Amino acid sequence: MNQTVVVVGGGYGGSLVAKELDSEADVTLIDPREAFVNAAASLRALTRPHWAHNAFFPFATLLQRGRVIRDRAVSVDPKGVTLASGERVEADYLVLATGSSYPYPAKPRHASTSIAQQLDDLRETHKELAGAGRVLILGAGPVGLELAGEIKDVWPDKYVVVLDRADQLLPGFLPEVRNELRHRLDELGIDVRLGTALTALPTVEAGRAGRFAVTTDTGEQIVADIWFQAFGVEINTGYLADGSLSPLTEQNTIPVTERLNVQGYEHIYAIGDIVALPDPKMASYAMTHADIVVKNLRAQLAGDQPDAVHTATSERRILLPLGTRTGIGQLPTPDGVAAVTAETVYERKGADLFTARFASRFGRA
Ligand SMILES: Cc1cc2nc3c(=O)[nH]c(=O)nc-3n(C[C@H](O)[C@H](O)[C@H](O)COP(=O)(O)OP(=O)(O)OC[C@H]3O[C@@H](n4cnc5c(N)ncnc54)[C@H](O)[C@@H]3O)c2cc1C
Repeated sequence: MNQTVVVVGGGYGGSLVAKELDSEADVTLIDPREAFVNAAASLRALTRPHWAHNAFFPFATLLQRGRVIRDRAVSVDPKGVTLASGERVEADYLVLATGSSYPYPAKPRHASTSIAQQLDDLRETHKELAGAGRVLILGAGPVGLELAGEIKDVWPDKYVVVLDRADQLLPGFLPEVRNELRHRLDELGIDVRLGTALTALPTVEAGRAGRFAVTTDTGEQIVADIWFQAFGVEINTGYLADGSLSPLTEQNTIPVTERLNVQGYEHIYAIGDIVALPDPKMASYAMTHADIVVKNLRAQLAGDQPDAVHTATSERRILLPLGTRTGIGQLPTPDGVAAVTAETVYERKGADLFTARFASRFGRA
């Protein structure tokens, strides 16, 4: 009988592990969603509803042999997973890959939505956004800026203002990249105000149309017709808080070894945004972690010693499209990180926001 590998969470990392091991083990993937969500595409999915389906890939087409359980893990212990439904899933090997949540529309509004529901949400917000002349975005990190860029790409005449408490754009990235970013934002007419906080959040719900005024900490009033929250990542490890496995860090991440085992368990791995490593919380690292875990699990399934090791890095990389025509980025090279051109940002991300890569993973023609 095949050994069982249970993957909890089918995001960038988990769906890759499940797919790679499908032919070598009895794989079970657990996720409350109907589909993998390519978060990198979600902001364009908001501004271009006809394109929005590209952000979602049904789990039904991921595995040839394995099964997908549409449910949420509420507890994990060394023997397996307990689901919200009360069902128990025993496992020889476990991979925890539950990632993080982010305010809508960057990630889905609800934890367990269907594709149809998510497309409805996006269409509804699109309608509200289409009628808004003035847009306020709170948070000038990559998500807030990318959202501003996508909005300006579709509606160049809208007034878009982005506020952030921080004094610098993308702190920690190369100075020339940050300067270029400022230049491109100015060109697009996006009003970015740094070192600026609000005395209170807007009284209108985020993503809903309705004129409101907010006051900055310097006493200035900003009037807008809709706003979006672009801050507030939450690590999805609530199901580990009962201590059935290992204690979490203060950041709610889970400590792992260099082979990406949850500390103390050679048959349990964790990958992606939930791990306590210096790697930036990015899909690219979740997939790098997945590759390491696939190698180690392949060895264990074959009765060999797992020996793939992950070297964590705090090196900052980014591809930040500002709509379909422009963007900035920096990527690793053998000599350290270096700025890339807007053309590279377009080719590597801006053109299709990774749709082709996931179409191939999920067998979409
Ligand atoms: C707008 C936006 C754009 C981005 N662009 C990029 C980019 O260009 N490049 C990049 O590298 N990164 C990008 N990121 C970051 C990237 O999305 C995250 O780093 C990535 O999603 C982390 O992947 P993951 O595999 O750890 O988990 P996730 O992709 O977050 O997936 C986690 C999965 O686990 C499921 N889950 C959660 N809780 C449970 C539970 N209790 N039981 C079962 N399943 C559960 C969820 O439903 C989800 O399907 C972007 C993020 C946003 C918001």
